[in-house]
Amino acid sequence: MLEKTDKKLVYLDNSATTRQYDAVTETMLQAMRENYGNPSSLHALGLAAEKEVRAARKTIAAAIGAKEETLYFTACGTESDNTVLFGAAQAKKRSGNKILVSAAEHPAILEPARKLESLGYEVVRIGVDRLCHPDMNQLAAELTEDTILLSIMGVNNETGTIMPISEIAKIKADYNKAHGTDIWLHSDCVQAFGKIPVDLAANYRGVDLLSLSAHKIHGPKGMGALYVRKGLNLPAFLLGGGQEQHLRSGTENTPGIIGFGKAAALAMTNFDARIETMRTCRKFLLEACKAEIPDIRINSPEDETACPSVLNISFLGTRGEVLLHTLEQDGIYVSTGSACTSNHASAKGSHVLNAMGLSPKEIEGAIRFSFSEFNTIEEMEYTVEKVKAAVQRFRRLGSFR
Ligand code: PLP
Repeated sequence: MLEKTDKKLVYLDNSATTRQYDAVTETMLQAMRENYGNPSSLHALGLAAEKEVRAARKTIAAAIGAKEETLYFTACGTESDNTVLFGAAQAKKRSGNKILVSAAEHPAILEPARKLESLGYEVVRIGVDRLCHPDMNQLAAELTEDTILLSIMGVNNETGTIMPISEIAKIKADYNKAHGTDIWLHSDCVQAFGKIPVDLAANYRGVDLLSLSAHKIHGPKGMGALYVRKGLNLPAFLLGGGQEQHLRSGTENTPGIIGFGKAAALAMTNFDARIETMRTCRKFLLEACKAEIPDIRINSPEDETACPSVLNISFLGTRGEVLLHTLEQDGIYVSTGSACTSNHASAKGSHVLNAMGLSPKEIEGAIRFSFSEFNTIEEMEYTVEKVKAAVQRFRRLGSFR
């Protein structure tokens, strides 16, 4: 555990995970102490737990414009993603064996896709441009009659690039209509939810499956959800007692679900104010880095095609990992890429920045700053000062080692 000191702590790794809201912790504690029944039990304690689970399901479903019966709780975003890939492959093996994913997806998508590839499925990785936007021509051209699934994330976790989901949904719908196919569209919205509007009745209309995770919106870790369009026949991922309408057996994580519901409610109630704080901090940091630090490359879109929660910058002639540990000494916490993919980091560095065509030097010097509503402009001023000093020192000495 981190020792409690008076030292400054500037947390800028919110895409890795967020600090849980105190209100979420309180709600979960109360659920653990008092509402500990099994939602499947027929007595009053069971019914009380079931009522809370239902309320959370309703809140989260409403937050994405869905009906409560289409939302299933899972143990994490990774589980939701795996359920979609393996479920689609199993459910649609008679229709085809081709799966399209973007090359910049999270490993929670890329690894199951790779596994399916080893089992004989054809996996096409749609390329991305220098700012991580998917190649829409390639995407449209790769839709064929043997395609079963198209999986494109809502927001990229390393760059904050917002993917054109409504455009993709239209391409998929037009293709399905013209060819009589039933290609499913999945969107991993682990980074998008709570940061940009995700509305199945508006900008996400036509999306068939959608993954969520609680810990990116100040909810508990180890808690996810999966939206499955009504009528879509996704096979069960976990078999057992038949919970979650038989899609995902296992006694429900009631404190986690209740905490997720609380976090989603808070995220939606304060949506505009939260986003404005992130946007202001991001803009300040971006402009200050551009003004004060030479030889940098901005790896995130600077316009409205970027999510306000992420800013990725390459400080050329430095090593991101060394900068990270130097900043840590000043109480500033950042990331070099995506923290939850660190076990997959190859010698070549971030697969996302690689897919964007960055040079090894640009990848080596990349830092991801990711924001939350708890950040302030004073923190950004302090961060720029410390980043500038660290970069200058690194460039002067060649290295800190
Ligand atoms: N998808 C994306 C885009 C992510 O950023 C992450 C985590 O960083 C995940 C999936 C995995 O979510 P979880 O940590 O809940 O398994």
